[in-house]
Amino acid sequence: MPAWICATCANQYPDQEQPPGECLICSDERQWVPSSGQRWTTAAELASKGHRSDVREVEPGLLGVGVDPPVAIGQRALVIQTPEGNLLWDPPGFLDEHAIAAVRQAGGLRAVTASHPHFYATIVEWSHAFGAEILLPEADAHWLTRPDPAVRTWSGSAQVLPGVTLVQCGGHFPGSAVAHWAAGAGGAGVLLAGDTIFVTPGEDRVTFVWSAPNRLPLPEPAVRGVVDAVRPYRFDRIYGGWWQPVVRAGAREILESSASRYIDFLRGDAAVG
Ligand SMILES: [Zn+2]
Ligand SMILES: [Zn+2]
Repeated sequence: MPAWICATCANQYPDQEQPPGECLICSDERQWVPSSGQRWTTAAELASKGHRSDVREVEPGLLGVGVDPPVAIGQRALVIQTPEGNLLWDPPGFLDEHAIAAVRQAGGLRAVTASHPHFYATIVEWSHAFGAEILLPEADAHWLTRPDPAVRTWSGSAQVLPGVTLVQCGGHFPGSAVAHWAAGAGGAGVLLAGDTIFVTPGEDRVTFVWSAPNRLPLPEPAVRGVVDAVRPYRFDRIYGGWWQPVVRAGAREILESSASRYIDFLRGDAAVG
């Protein structure tokens, strides 16, 4: 029996004969169900349609693992490599032997995690492939649609490996997180941000959303909460949930100025016209 995969968000459900009636993730107001109705797929069907893992070095010590063509929301994972072991962040909707072999060659995985429930996707399969623990924020752990005994919860912040810290920011989801990687960007520091901090196409701004597909903004206290949560950390670069866009440099100033501009719009203080 297959693990059913929601075709819209790529989250997985336990092995059972029939798929569930609806996807917990997509029936939430932050996601969406196709007007033609809920659709399910399986890993075998995705492979037969030609999806393949796409592995790239993103910067020294950071491996990207995506899918070509992309599946569902289309996020690519990032694997932070350290001498003490590796962390996989934001797993995509599909993995194959090529991806597993590439990550094994990079030193395997100590832990797997994600910025938020939209990107849990293949998290359980990655955990099984490497015997890695699944780190979920306490506040969002109930969103994991394929429960597994390898789950360990955290809240506030959690140092996963030396120089690698998960930081709960809230906003998009109560447990929405970033991963801070102190050695990234040549030692200037990196945030892996998923949907917690959205990088915009010009790579010179970031934004915040409660729902991306439904274009619902984040209220001011939540925006301030995200910025306050990351302020203690040194960083100069932000990776969002996809290969591109990336805020390559000056990310701290860009985060502060983007948040302030966003709040001007929320309050009606921005001059528009
Ligand atoms: Zn779904
Ligand atoms: Zn999301």
